[in-house]
Amino acid sequence: MTLAPVAANLPPIIMDGHCDVLLRLRDNGHTLTDPTEGDHHVDIPRWRAGGVNAVFFVAWINADRYPAEQAVHRTWDLIAAFHEQLALHPDELAHCRTAREVRAACGAGRIASLLAVEGGVALNEDLSLIAKYREAGVRYLTLTWQGNLSWVGSSHLNDGESPMGLTEFGADVVREMNRTGLVVDLSHVSDEAFYDVLRVSERPVLVTHSNSRTLSNHSRNLTDDMLRALADNDGMAGINLYSGFLEPKGRGSSHPEAVPVTIDTVLDHIDHMVQVAGINHVGLGTDWEGMKSPAQGLESADRMPALISGLRGRGYSEGDINKIAAENLLRVLEANEG
Ligand SMILES: [Zn+2]
Repeated sequence: MTLAPVAANLPPIIMDGHCDVLLRLRDNGHTLTDPTEGDHHVDIPRWRAGGVNAVFFVAWINADRYPAEQAVHRTWDLIAAFHEQLALHPDELAHCRTAREVRAACGAGRIASLLAVEGGVALNEDLSLIAKYREAGVRYLTLTWQGNLSWVGSSHLNDGESPMGLTEFGADVVREMNRTGLVVDLSHVSDEAFYDVLRVSERPVLVTHSNSRTLSNHSRNLTDDMLRALADNDGMAGINLYSGFLEPKGRGSSHPEAVPVTIDTVLDHIDHMVQVAGINHVGLGTDWEGMKSPAQGLESADRMPALISGLRGRGYSEGDINKIAAENLLRVLEANEG
């Protein structure tokens, strides 16, 4: 396998707001350096070839497999896996906790590496863990995954569950996250919880890996009204490259391979979300390593330059491309600091 050389004329920072690579590293014993290892989407050579120089490593906690106290242990284990990778690749990866550190790492030619936790089950209903995770370097927490928690509803209900929003304890979680600078991520939450959080949060939020529901009718995506509410909050939604959340409206998510989903489909979602929410509220959250069947032409991190060229082809200015590539996400991080 040969990787394309790093394309010239890329934005100074290309930041992937949601990458699930930690699981493969921890559970399969894989590395970040062997491009032939398994069928995967990202590694250091691919990030380098694609100009992706800032990445959120996500510790995804599967609540079905790791309930309650086990979720807390699993979270610390994946946080340890992140720090092991930093120690293994000190010349390539730089642990970043702030937007300023991201800029410095990218300026120095390293891959800015940030940590996130996906699944509020990681809190095990203990507010004191928020400050502890933040101290360990976690920058955002996705409140749910599939299935409701006792304090927040999910967009993807397990059998027999009813839709729900945010409870009073859930509001306390959001307030404590605001206080400590742990950014709230609303991908995966129910529509009810989405609006409840926006009423409580005093800081901008992220929706790290969700697309437009108008173009692809899936509960994991955002309606136009949700996109406008997100803009009012000064937050940001990251484009997810999973075909099932990009395919045209009406197909449902059960046969993502039935409709070819290409870079153009991704660009259609970006165009629509920018039109509705504004250029300051859209970014990237690929979901690489967290799904199968990414959009054709964007199968791995070395293909990122094709998306940047596509944005140029759609008439975006270099300044606007920089916003989508990183600046909008960095702004939300900054607004949750200090
Ligand atoms: Zn996810």
